[in-house]
Amino acid sequence: MSSQKATFLDGIHIPPNKSLTDGLKITKCAAPDFVYLPLSMHIGAPAQPIVKLGDKVKMGQVIATAGGFVSSNIHASVSGLVTGFQKRYLPNGMTSNCIVIKNDGLDTLSEEIVPRNESEITPDLIRKQLQEKGIVGMGGATFPTHVKYAPPKDCPAIDTIILNGIECEPYVTSDHRVLLEYPSEIIQGLKYFMLASGAKKGIIAIEDNKPDAIALMSKLVENEPGIEVLTCVEKYPQGSEKQLVYASTGRTVPDRGLPAAVGVVVDNVATAVAAARAIKDNMPLIERVVTVSGNAVNNPGNYLVRLGTLYSDLVEKAAQGYKGDLARIISGGPMMGFAVNSLDFPIIKGSGSLLLFNYDSPFAHVPQEQTCVRCGHCVDACPMFLEPTVIVQAVKQRNWDSAASSSIHACIECGSCAFECPAHIPLVQYIRMGKQFIGGKGEGGCNPFYVIKK
Ligand code: SF4
Ligand code: SF4
Repeated sequence: MSSQKATFLDGIHIPPNKSLTDGLKITKCAAPDFVYLPLSMHIGAPAQPIVKLGDKVKMGQVIATAGGFVSSNIHASVSGLVTGFQKRYLPNGMTSNCIVIKNDGLDTLSEEIVPRNESEITPDLIRKQLQEKGIVGMGGATFPTHVKYAPPKDCPAIDTIILNGIECEPYVTSDHRVLLEYPSEIIQGLKYFMLASGAKKGIIAIEDNKPDAIALMSKLVENEPGIEVLTCVEKYPQGSEKQLVYASTGRTVPDRGLPAAVGVVVDNVATAVAAARAIKDNMPLIERVVTVSGNAVNNPGNYLVRLGTLYSDLVEKAAQGYKGDLARIISGGPMMGFAVNSLDFPIIKGSGSLLLFNYDSPFAHVPQEQTCVRCGHCVDACPMFLEPTVIVQAVKQRNWDSAASSSIHACIECGSCAFECPAHIPLVQYIRMGKQFIGGKGEGGCNPFYVIKK
């Protein structure tokens, strides 16, 4: 293990608030009676259904195939009967057609899911399995993983794979538990990524607020050539891709560029586990670990959940319902997540957490926006070196040219600026809205300030 503690420039320090769940082992959430599997639970083209109403499906069977190279297959997360195709809202405010499966409760596994010999595993087979088994970034980005291992020809050779075990969002502990409970599969997945890319170096990056995970992973990689654990300073947004590449390698990913432009691929630790299972066991991505936390939930925890499970089923079946008057529901973390108005959303491949707060929580109260006092705190906080107040001024004036020339596209929507703003200006929400206008999507998206009225 390196004794160095890595970090990036600017950013902020925020209370981690992880104690509700960081010591709780992953437990299984019972599979629900129905799952709702969106055809768009990844970045890129929607998948195309290959099942029809009334079809019987087995768990792990492909039910929709990738709609292009940047897309992903979808697999049945339970065995049962296809009972419908429904358009539903996703937590980010977008809609997607969903395949509805009535669970028969048998978990009959698809015949294709048989382990293979390690000797059969080649770089080509790894890329093929990542694509066929629907592996996407599970840290929230949901970018199809196979695409990262087929970089454009003008990119330099990939020499480093970084596994992201940072998890800098408050309350969220799912990756921390994955590090503690699936460490061998994380290392196996990293070795497959290194084999597929030709990278000689693998880095497992973990924030210094997870000393147990750092100690465990460091011990396990002692005799793994080329692999090291990198301890990173607890700072937000340390887990953001560009900031992590800089902290880990000193390289700066160019504006509008991907880490591959500087010879790096970044994958989340949970993605590495899913990849290891896909490659070695032929197991597609049909479940994930989700943290349920906040002061309005009876049984906070880290739950292994079938994809397509509704939030309401997760809260009722695993977290034993909510307590008090539910004031705010956040899909994702409090910094980058989405406030939603119900629990009627399905768990998708990028869903790492669900937070529920009652009226005693500060999250239930959205302070009134005041006039900018030109303090510059937002500029100091911004890890992308932007001037959030200038961008937001342009958005408010609907001056899209000015917003574009102020590099609105480069905003990673981390929320650091808004967190630091003494005038309570919801800077990141204005920026998201501006991006949607510039992208021609109007004012879509969930209301970020949504507080349930008493
Ligand atoms: S402008 Fe964007 S990148 Fe900069 S702090 Fe605000 S949300 Fe983060
Ligand atoms: S932090 Fe808020 S008040 Fe200060 S300059 Fe930025 S927008 Fe204005």
